[in-house]
Amino acid sequence: MPRLAAALCLLAVGCSRCAKEPASPPRDRPHKVDAHTHFPPEATARVIALMDQYGLDAVVNLSGGTPGRGLEAQVAAAERYPGRIFVFANLDWRHTLLGPGYGERMAEDLIRAKAAGAKGLKIPKALGLAIQDAQGALLPVDDPGLDPVFDRAAELSMPVSIHVGDPVAFWLPPTPANERFDELSVHPGWSYFGESVPTWDELLGALERRIARHPKTTFISVHFGNAPEYPERVSELLDRYPNLYVDTAARVPEIGRYPAEKMRALFEKHQDRILFGTDLGVGVEPSQLMLGSTGATPPTRADADHFFRATWRYFETADRAFPHPTPIQGRWTIDGISLPGDVLEKVYGGNAQRLLGLR
Ligand SMILES: [Zn+2]
Repeated sequence: MPRLAAALCLLAVGCSRCAKEPASPPRDRPHKVDAHTHFPPEATARVIALMDQYGLDAVVNLSGGTPGRGLEAQVAAAERYPGRIFVFANLDWRHTLLGPGYGERMAEDLIRAKAAGAKGLKIPKALGLAIQDAQGALLPVDDPGLDPVFDRAAELSMPVSIHVGDPVAFWLPPTPANERFDELSVHPGWSYFGESVPTWDELLGALERRIARHPKTTFISVHFGNAPEYPERVSELLDRYPNLYVDTAARVPEIGRYPAEKMRALFEKHQDRILFGTDLGVGVEPSQLMLGSTGATPPTRADADHFFRATWRYFETADRAFPHPTPIQGRWTIDGISLPGDVLEKVYGGNAQRLLGLR
């Protein structure tokens, strides 16, 4: 837009055409599906507005709830915007407290979830870190009692997004020397240091056993395979398990500091099994917005613009040493990986569309 027209633009603040660096790319861009978002049904209209603003064609809402407890309302809200919102169901963990047979009962719920319109299943990090069995013992990620759930997901062609563990730094002392000190200062409860929980490595080991045990189940290991600190390890897992996918949600800051040429090669090698995701969280109130993480104060419009611009810049440019999307996650810069157009098309949306049965 010419400078004079931009100056006169009635939309002024926030008009993407006026910004020097548009927050949303032009219309000839690849189809974008954000495979990792969270929001309640009441926030759906707000999510659609954000999607239009930042150029997201579709999103997957991983906070779908369970049959009879929220799922139906989530699907109904999504259906008001055909093709734009896909819902993944959750599990009702109260089944574990009722004793043996919980996996079978949850697998039955999954049939109801599919019938209600859920496209997949999301398992939260609470599995392995907090969820207990009827005796009060921590349920491991590879607990055999849960096997029916993963087998049923395969039978129903429902991909399973699974969050296991958290950033490695959350297991280290939460001191100024911790690279996640800013985030841990705002959220002291996110630290596992000194807590009686499994180690990061034990959790990752249990996740691998879970993936290996269900070769017919499609796993989306979120947050870049739940191991963004170790891209080689993620790459090896992708080599070993053809049923494994990863998403990039909330981990561009982490993978962005890995050497760009190596990361670009990793994306090219596994171009059919990496899904773009943000971990965008949206509530009803304007202040309720999560851009990969949350800080001490609610994000501003400028924070949201920065979040999306830095995200596109990472995937699409070869720029070096620029600020990453989520400043609270750490004080470092990232390097763009300049993905080729065909790889970008798959990562941004094509792979998700395939998993969702849309192509
Ligand atoms: Zn998430």
